[in-house]
Parts: sequence; structure tokens; C-alpha cells
Amino acid sequence: VAAIELRGVVKSFQSHGETVTAVRGVDLSIAEGEFFSLLGPSGCGKTTTMRMIAGFDEPTEGQIILHGGDVVGVPPNRRDVNMVFQSYALFPHMSVFENVAFGLRRKNTPKDEVTRRVGEMLEIVDLAGRDKRRPRELSGGQQQRVALARALVNRPRALLLDEPLGALDLKLRQAMQVELKRIQREVGITFVYVTHDQGEALTMSDRIAVMNEGVIEQLGPPRQVYERPATAFVAGFIGTSNVLSGTVARTDGGTAVIEPGPGERILVPGAAAAGDVELTVRPEKIAIGLHPPDGDVCALRGTVTEVVYLGTFTNYTVRTSTGAEVVVFVQNASSADDVAASGDTVWLSWEPRHSY
Ligand code: ADP
Ligand code: MG
Repeated sequence: VAAIELRGVVKSFQSHGETVTAVRGVDLSIAEGEFFSLLGPSGCGKTTTMRMIAGFDEPTEGQIILHGGDVVGVPPNRRDVNMVFQSYALFPHMSVFENVAFGLRRKNTPKDEVTRRVGEMLEIVDLAGRDKRRPRELSGGQQQRVALARALVNRPRALLLDEPLGALDLKLRQAMQVELKRIQREVGITFVYVTHDQGEALTMSDRIAVMNEGVIEQLGPPRQVYERPATAFVAGFIGTSNVLSGTVARTDGGTAVIEPGPGERILVPGAAAAGDVELTVRPEKIAIGLHPPDGDVCALRGTVTEVVYLGTFTNYTVRTSTGAEVVVFVQNASSADDVAASGDTVWLSWEPRHSY
């Protein structure tokens, strides 16, 4: 059975005499042991979804099933999940040990078991030896790990994390992403992770649900969500993408051909034989050169408007003959010079399978 299942979940709030629908019919199924992310912009309904799984809010409609049992109406402390918030809210006057032990003590766990389990947990979050410190004597990343240990020590079957790294600076956040993934693997429980940061979701997740305005626009593994965005929203929200458009001139064996100018072609397999087509290409899928490309590839002429050297990559911005601004990421070989300079006329090319 699934660890967490949502069926037709809707949540509306009454706010100043108006009905705000935060979640508009969400269906999803999260497997036991999965690292699952809810990714979407601020206000899309991520926190509301998590609060319903945890039991802090009840759905207006639909079912929530945890480990096979319908939990609608079941209070948070009787659900086998735990939640970690962005503001980790540690008890400031208690030591690290006491913060982590808090939940166990409340359940009258025998003293030596408390010592053993808290010790194990501090080991896992890499805070062994810091057990006597107060939260204010720890860095932000360490405090976040105490909050994690405090949630995990109760051995929930699933852990819900709502933007847990939001308060940390970029470097620490990246280090913690790796840590969180390791900890999840080590404890082997289901993690549901909420973030508005696409990089974070792509790095850590087994699967991602991309949310927008209360609905899931796409659900799949990171590579699929990135390489094959199901909607324009997903394409725009995840990664950088170039959107091109044109009118189909002819078809060639099931492939629609757009011919913006001499030598230029955009090949769109499976598109309608006539009419306007809009397509998306990722910046790293496009090659840039000084001559028209050979072969069955898409080709567009343009003028370089900006070159930004970034070490590993150089980013080119190119204004095409059709007036579109196209961003191209070129990976820098060890001794290569820039492919082109600002003002140069260049040719962009990519394989048709890389646009969608
Ligand atoms: P996210 O976590 O993705 O930023 P939320 O789930 O917090 O989004 O909010 C989704 C929408 O629901 C927002 O428009 C928010 O203002 C609204 N909302 C959330 N909680 C309440 C509430 N208790 N009362 C009224 N509106 C709410
Ligand atoms: Mg939120």
C-alpha cells in the first residue's frame, strides 16, 4: 500500500467573507520510503496540502489515506507522520539533548531508552558531542539538524518537511540538501518535502509534483519533469527555457517544418500540418556556430547580443531572425576561446527531439 494517498482533495478557506480555494482537487500517491517533493511558487497550496496530511487542517472534500487507513478526522498526534517547519522552533532554554528527547519524555519512555535513542539520532544528524549545547550556540544548519532529530526520534513512518532549509544561506542549503538525502536513506522513511526551489527538488527527490494554483500540473521523476515538461507552466518554472514560435510551412513525413528564413528550419515531429506552433528548447540543448549546420537538425540564424563567461559555462543571448531572444549555455572545453562575440552573426542548431 502507498504511504500517503490523496484522493480528490480540495481545501477552501473563508476569509473576509470570501471563499479562497487553496487546493483544487489533488490526487497523488506516495510510496513507502520515497523522497517526494511538492514544488511550486509561493501561494500555490503546498503548505495547505502538508497541513492536511499532518492533520492540522481537514480537507473540504476528498480523502487522505495514510498507510492504508483513511485519516480524515484523526488528530495530528494519532497520525503516523511528523512535520518539520521552516522556523524550527527549538526550545531555547533546553540543551540539544533535551530538545530531541522532548517527545520521548512526554510519552514516558524509560530513561535509558531515551538516552540510547537520542544518542543514535544525534549520531545520524552528525551532532554527537554537541548534546549539551543550547540552540543559540549552534549554527543555522546545526539548529535545523536538531529540529530534524527531534522529529525523527519519535520514529514516524513519514516525515513532512515544509521549506526546512528556507532560512539558511545558499552554501549551507546546498550542504544540507546532501545531508537530508543521506539521512533519509539512513532512516529509510518516507519524506515529503515542500519547496519553491526547483534546484532543491531536482537534486533530492525520487519524484516531484509540480503545483500551480492549487493543482498538480505534472508528477514524475526529476529528469522527466525537466526534460519533458507537461505544461507551459512547468517548462517556465523549472530551469531556463527558450520559447519559439512560427507558422508551419509544410510537412515532411509527419514532421512539421517551419522556415523562418533562408537556410533556417524548425522541425517539429508530430505537430499539426498547418497553423502556428509554439515550442520550448532548453539552453544547454542548443549548439552555437558561425556556419549553417548540416543534417536533420533545427537551424536558426541570429545575432549575439550578450556573452557572459561563467567558468564552466558561457551563456550567450542571441536575437534570432524572428526577433526571439534565445539563451544558449555552452560548456567550456579546457582551452576553448569564446565561440562568438557580441554582434556576431551565428547559427543555432538543435536536434528536433530536444524541443517540445
Ligand atoms: P504555499 O505554501 O504554496 O505558499 P499556502 O498553502 O500557504 O501556499 O496557501 C495557498 C493559498 O491559500 C494562498 O492564497 C493563501 O493565502 C491561502 N490560505 C492559506 N491558508 C489560509 C487560511 N488559513 N485562511 C485563508 N486563506 C489561506
Ligand atoms: Mg508554504
